[in-house]
Amino acid sequence: MTQPAVLVIAATDSSGGAGLTRDVRVLADFGVDALCAVTAVTAQSDARVVGVHHVPPDIVRAQIAAALETRPVGAVKIGMLGDRATVEAVADGLSGGAGAIGGAGIAAPIVVDPVLVSTSGGILLDAPGRAALLQRLIPLATLVTPNVPEVAALLGEAVATDESGLIAQGRRLLEFGCRGILLKGGHASGEEAVDLLVTSHGSVQRITSRRVSGSSRGTGCALASGIAAALALGVPLLEACRAAKGYVLEKMLTPEGIGAPTSSP
Ligand code: PLP
Repeated sequence: MTQPAVLVIAATDSSGGAGLTRDVRVLADFGVDALCAVTAVTAQSDARVVGVHHVPPDIVRAQIAAALETRPVGAVKIGMLGDRATVEAVADGLSGGAGAIGGAGIAAPIVVDPVLVSTSGGILLDAPGRAALLQRLIPLATLVTPNVPEVAALLGEAVATDESGLIAQGRRLLEFGCRGILLKGGHASGEEAVDLLVTSHGSVQRITSRRVSGSSRGTGCALASGIAAALALGVPLLEACRAAKGYVLEKMLTPEGIGAPTSSP
């Protein structure tokens, strides 16, 4: 039987720590095939983003159309997009809007990792791109996976200082039309790493794990890819989030880890 497949819409990272190569490795670990649409080529080391080449929007749209015409996908994972034109090309390609080649959009679950800034501090989605992400892509998403600073940045608000403030921000992001928000607490402090799954049904689920000291590059990419892989395998959303978090923790505890360890979270 053919393995389920995930369409990964993401950028390359020349260091190999994050981005498309990370995503594909995670999908392979979950036993899921990868189809891909490359949004940007980044020149980066673990310490800095040296340059970003944005793939022309018509090529982004064409990659999505060609991937979807190749075989059915069980889920879509969206990572780094870079700028507004790319966000719009991806939204068009997935929704069957202007510029989409055939079809009226896909029914598979869509996981959006809102990649805004690299761990090294480089801007990976500019301000017009962030606005387009809210207006065009978040409404199509099954799940959006911001960390604590990302949810605040997307809403243009101050970073939440407690859990109730964070959940309130998750609910405000839900108003843009997605079905769930996974608020990642891995960068916060405390003995446990707590993620909060806030859904449009009004529920809030806590997903806890032990906290691993320091941080590694590529964990956000790995988590979102793991969730997309599990969804493609037919796992329900909460269990998919749990499975992916367990996978990331396990990887962080192995000697090779995920990406390069970074001293500043
Ligand atoms: N570079 C690319 C191409 C990415 O897709 C991502 C995350 O998705 C990053 C960098 C950010 O990763 P990190 O925060 O681990 O630097």
